[in-house]
Amino acid sequence: ANHWDQQYDVIVVGSGGGGMTAALCAKAQGLSAVVIEKSDKYGGTSAVSGGGIWIPCNDDIAKAGAHDSFDEALTYLKRVIGNGVPQARIEAYLRNGPDMVRYLADTFDVRFHSVPKYPDYYPNQPGGKEGWRSMQPDAFDGAKLGAEFDRQRESFKGTLLMGRIAMDQIEAHTLFSRGPGWIRLTLKLVLKYWFDFAWRRRTHRDRRQVLGQGMVAALRYAMLQHDVPLQLDTGLESLVEDNGRVVGVAVTQNGRPLRYHARRGVILACGGFESNQQMREQYLAKPTTTEWTAAPPINHGDGIRAGQQLGAAIDLMDKVWGSPTVAKPGAKQQITLFVERGMPGCVAVNRKGQRFVNEAAAYPDFRDAMYADDAKGNGCVPCWLVFDATFRHKYPMGIFLPGQIEPDSKLPKDWLDKVYYRADTLDALAQKIGVDATGLKDSVARMNGYAKTGVDTEFHKGETAIDRYYSDPSVKPNTCLGPIVKAPFYAVALWPGEIGTKGGLVTDARARVLREDGSVIAGLYATGNTSAAVMGPTYAGAGSTLGPAMTFGYLAARDLANAD
Ligand code: FAD
Repeated sequence: ANHWDQQYDVIVVGSGGGGMTAALCAKAQGLSAVVIEKSDKYGGTSAVSGGGIWIPCNDDIAKAGAHDSFDEALTYLKRVIGNGVPQARIEAYLRNGPDMVRYLADTFDVRFHSVPKYPDYYPNQPGGKEGWRSMQPDAFDGAKLGAEFDRQRESFKGTLLMGRIAMDQIEAHTLFSRGPGWIRLTLKLVLKYWFDFAWRRRTHRDRRQVLGQGMVAALRYAMLQHDVPLQLDTGLESLVEDNGRVVGVAVTQNGRPLRYHARRGVILACGGFESNQQMREQYLAKPTTTEWTAAPPINHGDGIRAGQQLGAAIDLMDKVWGSPTVAKPGAKQQITLFVERGMPGCVAVNRKGQRFVNEAAAYPDFRDAMYADDAKGNGCVPCWLVFDATFRHKYPMGIFLPGQIEPDSKLPKDWLDKVYYRADTLDALAQKIGVDATGLKDSVARMNGYAKTGVDTEFHKGETAIDRYYSDPSVKPNTCLGPIVKAPFYAVALWPGEIGTKGGLVTDARARVLREDGSVIAGLYATGNTSAAVMGPTYAGAGSTLGPAMTFGYLAARDLANAD
């Protein structure tokens, strides 16, 4: 007979967006649920993320008089995903995404709203849209969390104004693209933070929580309100099986081995394997290293391996939610470049000084292009983003803010020619970074030509709405294209990183984990990056990882509640 230390109807492993959603939804349907979390902080990668969820046909679209339909969304997804993902899962995602958002709002006051101008990543594909499908969490007042505020995983400084002040997707877009009112907005955000004296005595962290912080905070608050326990420092070791059915988990809590009984089932929501070097080498394109990831160093593929031990099938293991990243000295993870590549006046080149991609391409495509070009022997890991003094002055660059706010003189001295490179001529810059000077000068000359005509005949930078999302509307004729002419010239190395891996356990339309032969492992569910992504090899739009993670968490809970 089994000895159990604790018993619940549902055990959720991992406290990211998908895990917390699943636990809340299980509880609201009358089940007892617990979230166990290996680290001493809750929120996972979800807490440091943009918190965006991609939900076609969400309620805001109709309310705003905009248009979307299930058929258009399905057409779009099938086109960008290709054939690898069963249509039943894609349909389950599209049908239940809007329900999930409504359910979280109505039941737990966890609210998201559409970002009107955020385009799909392939807006020109059939069924693609130029806005509204991405949603962001409402701002949350962190003070409501009490002591739990301090146990939340903190956001990265790079996503904060001046490393401190929170800004949501819409605010960040206004600031980075210098949209109407950006100076007023900056002042408003800074003053609001600054005059919050009482709170700042407690912590430097902004209590206005937005992006992933806002999402995780709202979910955690709902867990407190609805008595869903969270156990930190409690890591899954293995699944406990009885007669082919998952009935519990073996965990280590603060170094102590314990066994928990799951009367109905276990939901694995404990992330991917981006921080596991051995698994990276086994599954991902090479070269690869944990150092290039932009995710915090917390996910080691534990859930995927636990599922495999019970015969679960895996898929998409060579795929990641890719993104070019830059290294910041002393940081535990790298920084993704979401914004800067679209700005005018930069060029991405390989070691031959040649361009190989549309700089403004969706971040996963940029990362894939690096590997493809590297495989041709062109030396593209790392590649280099080269820009001039005008770009440096006006736009951010991953590790630093625009020069007008954070000039070179304010950067640490030892970063020069290590973290970023600077020279008075392109020849000297090429020499410093080991790139072919003739190739680089040629690429820059061509870019300068495109800046004049507004047409990038090679890689089409600036032709789609998503290219132009982060660009400079004051630059004409193409808001993504500017000349690289003013000394000094700069270069930063970009690495083929990711914001998470996307391969994992194969699940069905109800988030149940499947064996190789397609049979269901009773009592076992997976969501988020522990499961093979419903997006297959693609990234449909901002929020393509968390949207599905939360939707399939919601579906897993519903399935468990309906089980007898
Ligand atoms: P996580 O959120 O990482 O949660 C997994 C949790 O499981 C962690 O807390 C981990 O500590 C815990 N865990 C691991 N092993 C165990 C174990 N053995 N036992 C118990 N617990 C364990 N995606 C979007 O969709 N929209 C965005 O706007 C977005 N922006 C991003 C911005 C940045 C800078 C980054 C880095 C990522 C972004 N992403 C975004 C990606 C997104 O954050 C991740 O894909 C998503 O958070 C993965 O969710 P998850 O639940 O699978 O994993």
